[in-house]
Amino acid sequence: MQNPKIPGFDIPVHNIYCIGRNYEQHVKEMGSPIPKMPLVFVKPLGTICYNDTTISLPIQSNDVHFEAEVVVAISKSGKNISHGSAMDHIAGYGVGIDLTARDIQKLAKKQGHPWSIAKGFDDFAPISEFSPVSEIENPDNMDIKLFQNGFVKQHGNTSEMIFPIPNLITFLSKIYTLHPGDLIFTGTPEGVGPVSSGDKLEVLLNNGVKSLTVNIG
Ligand code: MG
Repeated sequence: MQNPKIPGFDIPVHNIYCIGRNYEQHVKEMGSPIPKMPLVFVKPLGTICYNDTTISLPIQSNDVHFEAEVVVAISKSGKNISHGSAMDHIAGYGVGIDLTARDIQKLAKKQGHPWSIAKGFDDFAPISEFSPVSEIENPDNMDIKLFQNGFVKQHGNTSEMIFPIPNLITFLSKIYTLHPGDLIFTGTPEGVGPVSSGDKLEVLLNNGVKSLTVNIG
């Protein structure tokens, strides 16, 4: 199987890094402590799907939640990337949904187990087309909004991140060599909630510069 491509760029997705608890209001709604360093997990490649996908809910969960997130695409390799050069490693920005089987995640948290199952079902990381960096005036001020069946459920801005984008790149690159095609899901703002069969989810970056629509089957 070939790796799925990043829409808008002619490069395959490499690794999918995700940041948990990166917006204070979301941390509070989950009843979690404010992190002292970025909370990192990864998703398998089978989670990637695209605009207009109808996503099947896994039979193992009765409580799948949406988490709208700004997604960063990496353009060039690097290890131990400095804060000053972090932004030079970015190809562009899109939006995605970090779908999460909340019931499975809650049990995993209680048992001290990893989140790989809760976060890793097929199609659990739909992504929009990406904008090149030149199209985004200020990455520290990107607006993200999620609509569920036409109603706004999440509205955040990258200015509210606990760990801003360059800090995430610096942090991740101390652990993992970053490569072109790596994606970073940068965390979700408050307002996460459950999806139901028949739902339509729409996520907008900067009021529609890029958008993602998926249906829940
Ligand atoms: Mg998330």
